[in-house]
Amino acid sequence: MKEETKLIQNILSDPLTGAISTPIYQTSTYVQEAPGVHKGFDYTRTNNPTRKILEDLITHLEYGYASLAFSSGLASVDAILKLLESGSEIVAVDDIYGGTFRLLNLYKKLGINTKFVDTTDAKKTISTISNKTKLVWLESPTNPTLKVSDIEYISKESKKKNSDILVVVDNTFASPVIQNPLKLGSDIVVHSATKYLAGHSDVLAGLITVKNTDLYEKLKYIQNATGGVLSPIDSWLTIRGSQTLYLRIKKQSQNAFQIASFLNKKRNSEIDQVFYPGLSNHKNHFIAVKQQRYFGGIVSFSLKKNTIESAKKVVTSTKIFKLAESLGGTKSLICHPATMTHKSTPTEVRINAGIQNSLIRLSIGIENVEDLIKDIDQALKSLSSQ
Ligand SMILES: *Cc1c(COP(=O)(O)O)cnc(C)c1O
Repeated sequence: MKEETKLIQNILSDPLTGAISTPIYQTSTYVQEAPGVHKGFDYTRTNNPTRKILEDLITHLEYGYASLAFSSGLASVDAILKLLESGSEIVAVDDIYGGTFRLLNLYKKLGINTKFVDTTDAKKTISTISNKTKLVWLESPTNPTLKVSDIEYISKESKKKNSDILVVVDNTFASPVIQNPLKLGSDIVVHSATKYLAGHSDVLAGLITVKNTDLYEKLKYIQNATGGVLSPIDSWLTIRGSQTLYLRIKKQSQNAFQIASFLNKKRNSEIDQVFYPGLSNHKNHFIAVKQQRYFGGIVSFSLKKNTIESAKKVVTSTKIFKLAESLGGTKSLICHPATMTHKSTPTEVRINAGIQNSLIRLSIGIENVEDLIKDIDQALKSLSSQ
């Protein structure tokens, strides 16, 4: 079976009633025949049938051994960090998701330090690994400049340096339709399912998929001990949203490619740089071609008039693109990282990470691409009336 078919086939109908839509098991506990004698479910923090269907679904999509669903992407990230002991070190991608950066800061207090490195430089990444390094944390593509790192090379070489290093990939921006990090040699893949997997901007969810029993047992213990599980209703919403994942990613990637090409042509007028891994002038285009099936639905660009004010003018002039944080939904969104998602990043750090004052990020939805291009075009015209 092809991937699209497998995705749908793996959402089983209810064995009790035949219901084709997954039932929402909105229950905290389960009746037992005798103490400890039950149907595999005893308490919803530990196990829930609706959540289990979602976990099995992502296990198939990511070619893993097993998965765990959490109440948010960051709850998943937190569970992974809890695998580490005080004194261990993390090597992480330098333009890491802001929430993960904040969380890593908290872990400093517990004696777990992070070295940040530009992981698009694979050799430099490997040479940053020390004998204290226990975890390599990758995101590819990154937010918002869409840097792409060579997951296969970094996974292989990290393990050569030290076989018990865990390589984790935050696959949120790509989704399992675009790349499967476990197949490329990583140990754990994590998703903010809030974004592409659930796909409709209506739920917060996090998913972890691991490659073996040992990691599953350890993370299951952490999840049960800390309790940040995904609720039955949110599990259902994520299953429901995931069913159209292939359709959405294909359409969003096609739309994004056309929009990136349109913006690229505007580089002789309003636009300075365009960031999209599908463009041949993108810094990591060749790794993206090697590693990804599609180039994804996020496009960023900067303006010739490189000021906060110019960017604000553009992001408040679109009509179809709604001004909002987050990404990966059916509706197109526009965002100004410098004053929104990266507001708390010190200016110098932000500029060094390539997030200029005028940088604008688009999360492309499933609307008609001509309408989207017209909308951006008229918003860019607002600059000349400045
Ligand atoms: C949004 C996001 C997260 C955090 O997920 P939440 O569901 O918001 O907790 C983690 N990583 C990346 C790359 C994200 O975009």
